[in-house]
Amino acid sequence: MNIGILGNGQLARMLALAGRPLGVGCVFYADEVSPCTRNLGETVCGHFDDGESLDTLAKGTQRVTVEKEDLPVASLEALQARELLAPGLQAVAASQDRLDEKTLLRRLDIATASFWVVDSLEDLRAAMAEAGNAAILKTRRSGYDGRGQWRLDAGSDLDAVWRELAGRPALLEGMVPFDCELSIIGVRGDDGECRFWPLSENTHRDGILHISFSRPGHPLQGRAEDILRRLMEALDYVGVLALELFLVGDELLANEFAPRVHNSGHWTIEGAVTSQFENHVRAVAGLPLGDTAPRGYSAMINLLGEIPPVEALLAVPGVHLHCYDKAPKPGRKLGHVTLCADDPAALQQQLQPLYAVLGLEEGGDRS
Ligand code: AMP
Repeated sequence: MNIGILGNGQLARMLALAGRPLGVGCVFYADEVSPCTRNLGETVCGHFDDGESLDTLAKGTQRVTVEKEDLPVASLEALQARELLAPGLQAVAASQDRLDEKTLLRRLDIATASFWVVDSLEDLRAAMAEAGNAAILKTRRSGYDGRGQWRLDAGSDLDAVWRELAGRPALLEGMVPFDCELSIIGVRGDDGECRFWPLSENTHRDGILHISFSRPGHPLQGRAEDILRRLMEALDYVGVLALELFLVGDELLANEFAPRVHNSGHWTIEGAVTSQFENHVRAVAGLPLGDTAPRGYSAMINLLGEIPPVEALLAVPGVHLHCYDKAPKPGRKLGHVTLCADDPAALQQQLQPLYAVLGLEEGGDRS
């Protein structure tokens, strides 16, 4: 069986690596061949709105999935009409627009930060006043890894921010005084069965995910699963779905969801019986889902901008290294490392030499 993947970055790479032992091949689709996936399967080259090239992909595959959400709706619609797309159009389309996303979450009674639609400078001024002068302005579309966002307070020059926004539709979100950021990742099979991995606790660097710790046994696991299940069922979802959450006291607020495998779930490759990548392939291919139980406690650290000497990384006992074969560039996700241990104290101990190699003083774990 062959699955088509719209996109050919590191997520597509890890999906292909997970599919191989199952006998599921991947065909990638993107503007050009990428070093990430070059050796792992064929790439059909074309723009994401090129009907002819997408038709070539469709003819060579039994199902088509996505590794990113920023894709033309018309192309997704065409694939959906051929009953190829998993997850479906509704999930991918809703995740493209922060207003649609938040509206869907609210409709499902899932709590979010307060938000206001901003279509004019007057909207922005009024929303800022209502938000209590501490807020984040976000473009509704095409914002990721902290791009298209402005942190605003009482001293912000709203005229200047409005000019920078340059007419793009936006939302203002009240600043959430969160205790930490969590994500819940689950998978839903073709038959509607849902399974969930333990929560991840995530820290960011310059708006980009840096470190994720698995949190098996977290007291809010059940509540997070309930929220994600509601979302999956409403979307008649097939595949892996990730939901980013803010923990405020003992309350969970949903921030955004990703209709795909997620960076905060990379630890599942070694830290769970079945990884997010394998279970996504299984779900999309219509195969039975694998066990999502954790194997101990895990930490995943992104290698951003450059990969430290591989010899030094591999000298760290127990380390699992994943390089994506991408060209170095400041802030770019070039790879990640994972450590797993039987208990949190042992994990902390194992992390110390890794932090030293990575030049990290504070690992970001606050447990
Ligand atoms: P996002 O692109 O929505 O995931 O936002 C990027 C990061 O900005 C999040 O991971 C949070 O650290 C922070 N952030 C986003 N929205 C809020 C909010 N409403 N209140 C506080 N922090 C936020």
